[in-house]
Amino acid sequence: MSTTKFDVCVSGSGAVAMSLALALSREGWSVAWAKSPQVIPTGSADIRTYALNARSIALLERLRVWPALRQWSSPVLEMDIRGDEAGAISFSAWQQKVSELAWIVDAGALERLLGQALEFAPRVEVVPPVTEKGPAVLADLLAVCEGKQSTTRAALGVEFTRQEYGHWGVAARLKATEPHHGVARQWFRSPDILALLPFNDPDPAASYGLVWSVPQARAEHLLALSAEDFERELNDALFQSDSELAARVGQLSLTSSVAGWPLALAKAQRWAGPGWVLLGDAAHQVHPLSGQGLNLGLADVDTLAAELTQARQREPWRLPGDERTLQRYARQRQLPTQAMQGLTDGLLKLFADQHGPVKDLRNLGMSMVQRLTPVKQWLVGRALDAS
Ligand SMILES: Cc1cc2nc3c(=O)[nH]c(=O)nc-3n(C[C@H](O)[C@H](O)[C@H](O)COP(=O)(O)OP(=O)(O)OC[C@H]3O[C@@H](n4cnc5c(N)ncnc54)[C@H](O)[C@@H]3O)c2cc1C
Repeated sequence: MSTTKFDVCVSGSGAVAMSLALALSREGWSVAWAKSPQVIPTGSADIRTYALNARSIALLERLRVWPALRQWSSPVLEMDIRGDEAGAISFSAWQQKVSELAWIVDAGALERLLGQALEFAPRVEVVPPVTEKGPAVLADLLAVCEGKQSTTRAALGVEFTRQEYGHWGVAARLKATEPHHGVARQWFRSPDILALLPFNDPDPAASYGLVWSVPQARAEHLLALSAEDFERELNDALFQSDSELAARVGQLSLTSSVAGWPLALAKAQRWAGPGWVLLGDAAHQVHPLSGQGLNLGLADVDTLAAELTQARQREPWRLPGDERTLQRYARQRQLPTQAMQGLTDGLLKLFADQHGPVKDLRNLGMSMVQRLTPVKQWLVGRALDAS
């Protein structure tokens, strides 16, 4: 083991780990980055697009990643959410008096640019991955950002409760025959949820990121289809949901491969202890219908970096692994995360029921929310910055 002692060892290879290592380096902490050796952040593999909220973009701006990422991102100017009958909620950036509601960001470009920024970050050293014996270096704090299957979390003895939805998130890149005008669309079709996120690549005016949440058997079927058959099923699904809207979107065709992820609601029972802390999907997982998983993870990064720096200013003798500071971080993050998990889970359950009365009520509810300004305003606020 090297005798150099670091302030923090960040374990993980995704966007949360890289953002944390960058944020801590900018605050003057020495960081050992324990990334997985097989992960090279080339960004070519992940075909997902992420909807990122204003707080996440502000963090990426402070990390100086946003100016380069901006060209791999598209603003959302309007959101249009439809139920499985006539229910609908829509809101626009113009109504909310903001320049955009969110940004749709290329997942691969995000990881690639964070990786490049880390190559030049001061006080950051790449070290071997954490094993069951612990980190390969001495560090006062171990920040675990290893995603949902974190082995270090398990080695710390932290229970991770996971409730499988039995659904998969099927993602792909698409282009349409009609322009998207910056409108993000989501259909609660019961049992599936279909989201089209406006994106700028390859066609700046008519490309989308697709997130289609479907029961596992249907996901397996969709993933086994040829590109042509997948496109046919997708266009049919859109047309059956709303033929008038489908005409506005136009015919969709694939511009990437199709990939799927199993979906679950999960949370760690403890987020912090003496000398260790959990962030991102290692601490919590939400259904992507809300587009909030990474936003929650980046808010964890923002909060932890601020807490560590404030603690150092208040009590310079206090080390970053001090449990009181870490518990302050955990308390701040647990409430908004639980609220988001509750909201998405509740929506899913509401739309899981395919029977008449519930179906009618939820669509009526959506239409009422659309007319009730304060309720709609509250929901819009959650969508804009739920983290
Ligand atoms: C279909 C889909 C769409 C989504 N859309 C959105 C969206 O629009 N907006 C949004 O905010 N979120 C979205 N999410 C959620 C988002 O993908 C996750 O919340 C986010 O990727 C979590 O980041 P993370 O860095 O915590 O974990 P991960 O992305 O899982 O990264 C963890 C990394 O650490 C590596 N690792 C594991 N163990 C170790 C170890 N011991 N040492 C070193 N490295 C290790 C893993 O291999 C992995 O590369 C979506 C998710 C899905 C499935």
